[in-house]
Amino acid sequence: MNPTAIELAFFLRKQARKNLKLLAGYCTFLALMILGYAYLFQYLMWHLERRTYSLIAGIYWTITVMTTLGFGDITFHSDAGFLFATAVTISGVVFLLMLLPFVLVSLFIAPWIEQSMRFRPKRELPANTRGHVLIFGPDAVTRAFMRKLEGRQVPFVVVTPDQEEAFRLELEGMRVLCGTPTDGVFLEKARAGAARGIVTSLNDPETVNLCLTARKLGDAPIAVLADDSAHADLLRAAGATHVIPLPQILGRHLATRATTFGAAAHVLDAFGNLLIAEMPVYGTPYVGQTLGMIPLRERTGLSAIGLLERGVFSAPDPDSPLSVQTIVLLAGTREGMSSLEALLRPGAGEDRVFILGHGRIGCAAATVLGKMNVPFTLIDREENPFCSAHEAIRGDATRLDLLRKSGIEAARGLIITTNDDNANIFLALASRRANPHLRMVARANREENVDELYAAGADFVVSSSSVGANFLSNMLEKKDSILLTEGVNVFRRPLPPRLSGWTIAESSIGAMTGCAVVAILREDVPEPMVGPPPDTVLDTRMDFVLIGSPEQERRFGEAFA
Ligand code: ADP
Ligand code: ZN
Repeated sequence: MNPTAIELAFFLRKQARKNLKLLAGYCTFLALMILGYAYLFQYLMWHLERRTYSLIAGIYWTITVMTTLGFGDITFHSDAGFLFATAVTISGVVFLLMLLPFVLVSLFIAPWIEQSMRFRPKRELPANTRGHVLIFGPDAVTRAFMRKLEGRQVPFVVVTPDQEEAFRLELEGMRVLCGTPTDGVFLEKARAGAARGIVTSLNDPETVNLCLTARKLGDAPIAVLADDSAHADLLRAAGATHVIPLPQILGRHLATRATTFGAAAHVLDAFGNLLIAEMPVYGTPYVGQTLGMIPLRERTGLSAIGLLERGVFSAPDPDSPLSVQTIVLLAGTREGMSSLEALLRPGAGEDRVFILGHGRIGCAAATVLGKMNVPFTLIDREENPFCSAHEAIRGDATRLDLLRKSGIEAARGLIITTNDDNANIFLALASRRANPHLRMVARANREENVDELYAAGADFVVSSSSVGANFLSNMLEKKDSILLTEGVNVFRRPLPPRLSGWTIAESSIGAMTGCAVVAILREDVPEPMVGPPPDTVLDTRMDFVLIGSPEQERRFGEAFA
């Protein structure tokens, strides 16, 4: 934010508070004046005309006279009384009808107008600007991404064509540039050629134009939050380096977590041959046991890297109890996952999943379940005009009788993905009450509702803004990072050269950063070293795969940069 804008914003906030006090003072003065006149009215009425009135009547008379309403139901009949009434009328005109509006305008409206008129949005960055991230289209996802950039101290600039939006964003403390995203001259002034990256959540046609224009200026990576995965090829052809079809990604996240059908563990992502997966304890023989009692290492070679219980992460401990709600996070190879499969031989029984909300995300989840041969039921109150593949039950999902009639009691999994967080929280609560063993995953449209959804009983909550922001920062920072849950990432980093020759125990990574080493990868060795023992000797050909919070990830960067 430029200095004048900071000063202005600060001035306004400070001044507004001061002005509010002034207004309160003026109103008190008016109230005292009315009260004084009311007493005087009572006094004069008695002494001049021997009539008695209550104080309330006095206040009523004063206000009708001061506001020049003058109903005439109470009047003086003496000259002295007329003089008094005239004085009250004049002071009403002056203090109530003239000064009060003036005070309001000059204290509140004028400074605001003046400030917004004095605001001149920036339309150009200094010529030597480089290494910044340009963000087009401030929305929930890009805002979450901006918070990440702030945490990592990466400079970024938000671009908007709308002067009023620019003003609001500056007041929020952002560095803003005002201009048309598809205008080549403007992009040059935004130093797009020297940017560290360009991120856009504009609509796809606008994005295509932006990419073509930006490509003429340089080869900064362009990450696009695509409206439709079918546009991915077009966007790439226009110059986008990373296309993120967020609805499809979220749909897959939700679908794989809502079912235990056909797989003991769901693979979330991979670093080469190292797979990161999660195994719900529900439906396995390990419910009620402890983590140490699962013969993971001996029988499968997999390593438990953490536990999730209703979104709360804990480090793996052999004594950790396993409940129907526990999800064990695993790292290992494809063979390890197959051995786990063989060990658990999950029941291939009926595993119907209900999907509430057939928007883009619900539709993507249904498509994934379809590929996994998991039967599902879709419910939406509107038809999805973009989908001809699925048949949905039409109706409001918050109508519990409709859910019951559709057979929700027989469901083993539930995906809650309407675009209304209140409906989602309501549905989570109602479904958890109706069915304590339901495997329930939900989407949070706003990050601040994640906790409420967990509290309402969801087993897993995905917030579209966190997932989107995570994808964006992976791409721009050329880092590999997998978001396990809000606040826990698995990430890959090259071994810091100064640790070469040390053992893991000597490196004291855990003590210094709080991160835990999940695995070690080596380019020349295809097999990942999962859960490396503390006496493993490190060398520079290795990559670490670590688990930790974004804060711990940052500490790792600082400690070993
Ligand atoms: P997205 O495409 O990101 O999934 P949408 O807004 O397109 O988001 O989809 C949300 C879907 O949820 C819409 O199809 C909407 O009709 C549906 N929906 C919202 N509230 C309810 C509700 N109470 N009952 C049933 N469906 C709902
Ligand atoms: Zn569909």
